[in-house]
Amino acid sequence: MRRILALVMIAMVGMVFSFYINYQVQSGDTIYSISKGFGIPIPVLLDWNPDVSISNLKIGQKLKIPFVPGIMYKPVKTIALSTLSKLFFVDPEEILAVNPSIGSTISAGKEVFVPVGKVNTSFTQLADFIWPVYGSISSEFGWRIHPIYNKNMFHTGIDIKADTGTPVFASRSGKVKYAGWKSGYGNLIIIDHGNGIETYYAHLSKINVYVGLYVEKGDFIARVGSTGTSTGPNLHFEVRKNDQTNDPVAYLPRTNTYVMRRVLSE
Ligand SMILES: [Zn+2]
Repeated sequence: MRRILALVMIAMVGMVFSFYINYQVQSGDTIYSISKGFGIPIPVLLDWNPDVSISNLKIGQKLKIPFVPGIMYKPVKTIALSTLSKLFFVDPEEILAVNPSIGSTISAGKEVFVPVGKVNTSFTQLADFIWPVYGSISSEFGWRIHPIYNKNMFHTGIDIKADTGTPVFASRSGKVKYAGWKSGYGNLIIIDHGNGIETYYAHLSKINVYVGLYVEKGDFIARVGSTGTSTGPNLHFEVRKNDQTNDPVAYLPRTNTYVMRRVLSE
């Protein structure tokens, strides 16, 4: 309740100003100290400030800092508030609280501020891994006719269909091992979860983490895209154990009300 009240107060400020303040980088600041000081996770800061380089913050540089952890989302097509809330795994009320005028549908191209805090909390206690993105599975793990190369190839993960800009969340806690371009994968994040287990998030339009950063299960880390060898916006998601690819579905919660599996007979 207190959180909702705080969000309403921010919404009132937001109507007059905006959802963020401009902060000028001071001597001694690091992205870590700014994140700590404002209580905004590093991936959220990086999403707001695409030009910021972790190793090269400049004194006097202006950063956008949101009042609460949250990111701007611009739907590519008109969507219902209820769908938007699923993309972020938050309650619709939390989105309404900061965007009181949006109503029950959001027009394509209209920017909405969406809080991201501890997302996916309904699954964090129950599941070891969580679904990294809301969408439906458009391609399963295993042998398939490759949609671009048109020959039988092994699909090393699952593809979850989602619009460009859809938030991607860490499926499990761990340390970022890779964050950058990789042939075929396009923009790729690899998270090392220990005991030889890694998760891969590919074709991203935006990477909001860097090598060495520790992320927790459910943390916002990136945005869906179509980079690399891809036929359209989707998240290619892999689970590897000792560098062997496994069917990610075997690790993910089965009773998930948000992510719909494609019916195999379709
Ligand atoms: Zn794929």
